[in-house]
Amino acid sequence: MNANLYALFASHFPADRQACCLETHDGKYYSWNDLDRASAKIANLLAGLQLPPDARIAVQVEKSAEALILYLATLRAGYTYLPLNTAYRAAEVAYFIEDAAPAVVVCSPQNFGWVSQIAFSGGAKHVFTLGDDRTGSLLSRAALQSNSFDTVLRDADELAAILYTSGTTGRSKGAMLTHGNLASNARVLQQYWQWRDDDVLLHALPLFHIHGLFVAAHGALLNGSKMIFLPRFDAAEVVGHLPRATVFMGVPTYYVRLLAERDFDAPHCAGMRLFISGSAPLLTDTFTAFAERTGFTILERYGMTETAMLTSNPYAGERRAGTVGLPLPGVSVRVVKADGTACATGEIGDIQVRGPNVFKGYWNMPDKTAEEFTSDGYFRTGDVGRFDQDGYLAIVGRSKDLIITGGYNVYPKEIESVIDALDGVLESAVVGVPHPDFGEAVTAVVVVRDGAALHEAGLIDSLKQKIANYKVPKRVHFVDELPRNTMGKVQKNLLRARFRDA
Ligand code: AMP
Repeated sequence: MNANLYALFASHFPADRQACCLETHDGKYYSWNDLDRASAKIANLLAGLQLPPDARIAVQVEKSAEALILYLATLRAGYTYLPLNTAYRAAEVAYFIEDAAPAVVVCSPQNFGWVSQIAFSGGAKHVFTLGDDRTGSLLSRAALQSNSFDTVLRDADELAAILYTSGTTGRSKGAMLTHGNLASNARVLQQYWQWRDDDVLLHALPLFHIHGLFVAAHGALLNGSKMIFLPRFDAAEVVGHLPRATVFMGVPTYYVRLLAERDFDAPHCAGMRLFISGSAPLLTDTFTAFAERTGFTILERYGMTETAMLTSNPYAGERRAGTVGLPLPGVSVRVVKADGTACATGEIGDIQVRGPNVFKGYWNMPDKTAEEFTSDGYFRTGDVGRFDQDGYLAIVGRSKDLIITGGYNVYPKEIESVIDALDGVLESAVVGVPHPDFGEAVTAVVVVRDGAALHEAGLIDSLKQKIANYKVPKRVHFVDELPRNTMGKVQKNLLRARFRDA
């Protein structure tokens, strides 16, 4: 059997290949036949380049139907897809190209000058362009190719993609994901979230990250479901398309922005079945406000580039705010103490995971890979959390965010939850900054609700009533907005740098 992920998708395309598979914001329709033929053309182009079988195809392009088709074509041709965040500038792109040594680079037409220079000096043999308006050399070359292609045979443990981690802590590492990793996760999610024949996915996430490319797009492809494909998240546009969709996936910021749309209400969601959130913690406030406004309980799930999805709140059972739900079927998740022994229920520890979804290792980093796995084969996620008595997992923070102050461990998430619950606070981030006496000093950065007036001394006093003294921030800084990356993660490295000398 061919374990190539594309073969799995193709076996689930609907019987009616003329049906709409993808609709773009500017009213273009792609049928399942279109998807198959267009990906065959690009696969033929790639296959004709005489690349080594393990060639990487690095892609930094704006989101478009053709960008998704290029991903599928890379799978079909048996090569390894390497998507890059469109926000990366020259120095960052140079790092990835040097590290991954792709044979082919595809970039936006307007970036051809600088990207091709970096690509060729990094050893790439071919550079193509692909615009978000169906322009560029990739499509003009592919147009001359045949529209049929026999998907290359791949084993489950061969590479399908390398995704670089978002690098909110240290240097970005290339996570190697196999056809088997991605297929197992897509299958589990299809069952767990009870995808239906008539589902329509409203797709507003970027395509260079696991959330938009794997969780969202794979879900629709495996289920043979139509996608409404938006080039980027725009709250008003999403509200406009929602009445024709049944499933929506987003990072927490998307939900906050939807709630800020005055006319967003229950009637817009009348045809909806499921709203899913992930990639960063969903505030209980957002969860509650969304339920009040729309009648829908957002389903929060948890995963990471290296492991795909690990846990999810149930589709049918209770969805608990502040938790990421239960381990997915076939995925083994445990919480352990520093010495590797299991934590009791409610006890905070390191989250580790094992399963067919867990990646093959970091590209070119065998030592780092070995370090991140335990002797019994569990991957150390770097996240810290606890299980409640019903088996729901709550994430308390990243182990690298752990603050050690005067010898005491402080988990930022715990302090953030207490601060967020104070009157007048919209949200907060807690970081450690160097301190001559304590090693690190707990520092809070707070966003105040409109119209509320809060002061550093008052806030510190309120916290002293609620938590141990060593956990109380030494300083509180007020900002208009927390810095977030495109996936909605708070960039604590920026906060640490900004407030380290304050
Ligand atoms: P990435 O590899 O970019 O998807 O980032 C993965 C990290 O995002 C995880 O290790 C978690 O720290 C965080 N993350 C993902 N989903 C959630 C969630 N639902 N709640 C809290 N953190 C999350």
